[in-house]
Formats: sequence, C-alpha cells, structure tokens
Amino acid sequence: MTIVPPGSTIGIVGGGQLGRMLALAAAQLGYKCHIYAPEEAPPAAEVAAYFTRGDYDDEAALRRFGAEVDVATFEFENIAAGPLAALAGEAPLYPPCQALEIAQDRLNEKRFIQGHNGRPVAFAAVDGETALAAALKEIGTPAILKTRRFGYDGKGQVRIRSVKEAAKAWKEVKGAPCVVEAMVEFDAEFSILLCRSPEGEVAVWDSPRNVHRSGILDRSTVPADKALQPAIGKAEALARRVADSLDYVGVLTLEFFAVGEEALFNEMAPRVHNSGHWTIEGSLTSQFENHIRAICGLPLGAVGLAAPRVEMRNLIGDEVTGWREILADRTAHLHLYGKREARPGRKMGHVTRLLGLSGG
Ligand code: AMP
Repeated sequence: MTIVPPGSTIGIVGGGQLGRMLALAAAQLGYKCHIYAPEEAPPAAEVAAYFTRGDYDDEAALRRFGAEVDVATFEFENIAAGPLAALAGEAPLYPPCQALEIAQDRLNEKRFIQGHNGRPVAFAAVDGETALAAALKEIGTPAILKTRRFGYDGKGQVRIRSVKEAAKAWKEVKGAPCVVEAMVEFDAEFSILLCRSPEGEVAVWDSPRNVHRSGILDRSTVPADKALQPAIGKAEALARRVADSLDYVGVLTLEFFAVGEEALFNEMAPRVHNSGHWTIEGSLTSQFENHIRAICGLPLGAVGLAAPRVEMRNLIGDEVTGWREILADRTAHLHLYGKREARPGRKMGHVTRLLGLSGG
C-alpha cells in the first residue's frame, strides 16, 4: 500500500462523536480531516479542517468528496453500496466495503460468522407474523426480535416474553425483515477490538467487559475478570480469522456474550467503537490513532495498558449535566461531544478513569 503521509487529507463519512475523535487523533499526527455528513453542524465538523454537508445516498456528492481527499474511511454504517462504491472509485477507502456490507445486515453477519467457525446466539430469519410464531416455538422464549438493517443502541429491537406477543412485536417492527434471537442469560458481555494494518499486522487491545443499560453501552472496564479469559481467547481467535479473511484495514470490533467458557457472537462493527473509548487514555495507542495509522499505511502503535485498571462510563442524555461533579475528581478524563441537545438515550460524552496508578 502507498503511504498517505502526514499533511494529507483524510475523508471521514459520518459526523458523530466517532468521527470527532478520529479527527482529533488525525490532527495530532499532522493530517487534515474532511467530514461528510447530512447534519448542519455535526460534532466531528467542529474539530475538522473541512466539512461537506450531503446525504448518504447522494452518489454524485460522495464522488466529489472522494476526489477531494487522499484516503477515506467511515464512522457511520448505514451507507448504501452504490454511493459507497462511487466514493471508493475516487479515493482508497478503508475498511473494505465488503466488511460494511456484511455488518449492515444482521442475518448476513451471523451467517458470515458461522462460516468462520463462530457461534452466534440461536437465531432464525423471519419475514412475517407466522414465521415469527414458528421461530419462537423453535428457539423458545424469551426472545428478541431485531430488524436486519438500520438498528443501533437497542433501536429496531423488541423483546418478546411469550409466543402470544408475536403479533404485537411484528407490528412494532412494521413488517421490516428481521431476525429473532434467543434471549441469552449471559455471565457478561465483552468486545474484541483489533486494528489490522495493510501488511496484515494485527494489534489487539485488552478486551473490555461491557455493561449495557436499556440496550445502550453504560460502561466498559479493562481488564475483564479472569473468569472471562477462556471465552475472550476464543473470541479473539475468531476476530483475527474474520479480519484476515476480509483483508481488513483499520479497527474492527466484535461484540460477544460470555456463557461459561463460551463466546456467543452478538454483532460486529467495521469501525472504531464505543467500547474502545477507554483506549484514549487507557492504552499506549488509542483505537482512533491506530485506525488513522492503519488507513494511512503508517506503523501501528503499541496497545498495552497505560494503567492496571481502566474504566469508561458513558454520559447519556441528562447525565451530561453532571460534568462539574465529574471534574471534581481530578483523575477523571472528561470527554464531551459538543452536542447541543441532551435527548434521552443520546450519547453526550464519556468519562475515563485510570485506576491503580500511584498518585491516582
Ligand atoms: P445489540 O444492538 O444487538 O448489540 O443489542 C444491544 C444490547 O441488548 C446488547 O449489548 C445486550 O445487552 C442486549 N441484547 C441484545 N441481544 C440480546 C440477546 N439475544 N440476549 C440477551 N441480551 C441481548
């Protein structure tokens, strides 16, 4: 791969907090970022050199955007294949489009993982109320109905306690193609975060244990408990197989449920991830910096822990108003995303604490 040297312009499709933190990491390395997003004033544009406002399905605009950047990446997953190809025709685009296309559809994603000897949660594809009732009889209840596409942070998901609730659940997803999953009684949730370089070098961060609230990540802690290590080992091997088979470049995230020593696959994200925000202060190189290094063909940075323990907590909705109390703890690293409106369920910022350091 040709090296994209510092001073070049990196295009980022998507303007949220992930784009913002990517742009900050890129700036540290001397790059300029150009953000492409449909919002008027997205969080990433505030900290980037250039901003183009455009829709994700505007092929012509994405082609022009591609012509203005030296390399491109994305922080937003729901971009259709056509517009993405238009962009990729103008600038090198990483991670590969194939990874994005797989991750955009929960059914494809699960089958892909099975094809790599991974174990997803028991599931069935459903495209109607009758199919849903039949699937529920097979996989049992409680269960979760999830739309195949366009879901995130628990959106597009309906919990089903008994077969009697099938009709109501089907109405809620408005006839969208879905998968239904068994509700897992997991011991813990964790994710695998890795970064792969164009030469195939892979750096894997310590796996965080993740706790969700109402389908949204609440906090991540590293290192995860010892009891989780066998499951983490298997999950990491799977993530490496996936990254190698896609000839992946950049940060890849896979989320899992730990059940005893087993790792049940939940979902994958072909991008930097909320459960990796702790790496900004908690690792020798953050997920954002290594993603930039990988897509620009620079050597990856070391990913060891910068403290014995690291904890990241999300600030969701109104929680952001507590920023004064957070700063009263002088060891807390506060990150605010510059979003004007603190709507319920909206990720407004996060706080990271390095624990177990002398002087902490
Ligand atoms: P998802 O967007 O699919 O990652 O779901 C968000 C969160 O909802 C997960 O991280 C879990 O905490 C919970 N969840 C989703 N699917 C399941 C499942 N099949 N069993 C148990 N909990 C689940």
